[in-house]
Amino acid sequence: MALCHCRLGPVWHWQDLWQVFKWKEGREEMSSTVAQVIRCKAAVAWEAGKPLVIEEVEVAPPQKMEVRMKILFTSLCHTDVWFWEAKGQNPLFPRILGHEAGGIVESVGEGVMELAPGDHVLPVFTGECKECAHCKSEESNMCDLLRINTDRGVMIHDGKSRFSINGKPIYHFVGTSTFSEYTVVHVGCVVKINPLAPLDKVCVLSCGISTGFGATVNVAKPTKGSTVAVFGLGAVGLAAAEGARVSGASRIIGVDLHPNKFQLAKQFGVTEFVNPKDYTKPIQEVIVEMTQGGVDRSIECTGHTDCMISAFECVHDGWGVAVIVGVPSKDAVFKTHPINFLNERTLKGTFFGNYKPRSDIPAVVEKYMNKELELEKFITHQVPFSEINKAFDYMLKGEGIRCIIRMED
Ligand SMILES: [Zn+2]
Ligand SMILES: [Zn+2]
Repeated sequence: MALCHCRLGPVWHWQDLWQVFKWKEGREEMSSTVAQVIRCKAAVAWEAGKPLVIEEVEVAPPQKMEVRMKILFTSLCHTDVWFWEAKGQNPLFPRILGHEAGGIVESVGEGVMELAPGDHVLPVFTGECKECAHCKSEESNMCDLLRINTDRGVMIHDGKSRFSINGKPIYHFVGTSTFSEYTVVHVGCVVKINPLAPLDKVCVLSCGISTGFGATVNVAKPTKGSTVAVFGLGAVGLAAAEGARVSGASRIIGVDLHPNKFQLAKQFGVTEFVNPKDYTKPIQEVIVEMTQGGVDRSIECTGHTDCMISAFECVHDGWGVAVIVGVPSKDAVFKTHPINFLNERTLKGTFFGNYKPRSDIPAVVEKYMNKELELEKFITHQVPFSEINKAFDYMLKGEGIRCIIRMED
């Protein structure tokens, strides 16, 4: 947090002035690379499941409606590992993965008006073109133009990649490819944030943390004193719990198959822990008994259909709302008795916490700056870029929550 909100009003700390100085210095340093190919390091996934290799890559200048940015910090999310393993999807290699990050704009392409070199930004895997029916609707964040497309490995403008090694193209990943010192992103997927926000912390808002936090505060909307159940205590589930804590929920019930997660979950406001393995009856019945009729809100963050059904059936009749966040498998089927709806329970789904990236994420960054939302506790590991494969090891072993990869070491 940078500003003191004492009775005399905001006071500038010397650290703030230093950050602004560094920011201005950064602007001058970068101007020499404008319109030129940048050669820099990137971690390339050459094959499914094989360790990433740090290579020197060429990054082409940004084209129409594109932004080239210098990545300073990036973190690893389950989705990167999922596409790196390439189990059950179209494999696309060689590819530069990575989608949670913070960086600084190096240069902008034709038609980019609202960003300039030196701006502090977060790239996001889904975008906001501000022109389509979804972007114009207050209720949707599912932009027609820039909605996530995991099969696309090239830029929308010309169907080409901006990355190459000795002229041979390397594919992009979800429009972000942040495991590179420089990357090119469509302007609609770039969020301009407060330059005083520490990028090594707020970079986690690019994906998982905003997804879970937004699912609670924007969609489930628990009121003060309410009871909330969170299914799955990974990064997204813990962020959903953090949303419940910030909303003033009095009971937050964490549901997970791994009892070792409870200790950590307490830091995110989880007050009770339920392990379905400890019971013979369906977990929704256990929760309904624990709460005299059901929870007020539930948030499902595992992607398993059984969990989704439990999350829906454990909410109180008359007012309960269940929100699905987890991504199900291709042929999943959700089954429940329609009476559960007639008894005035609501089931909702959400994508990226219902945030419109460009319009809404800057305010989430401010929530962190105002100390309403805590991000430090999500960051359990840090590695230099040269050791990026360690971040994969931590995630595969299920160790910690988020590992920050420092690009400049
Ligand atoms: Zn749009
Ligand atoms: Zn992610």
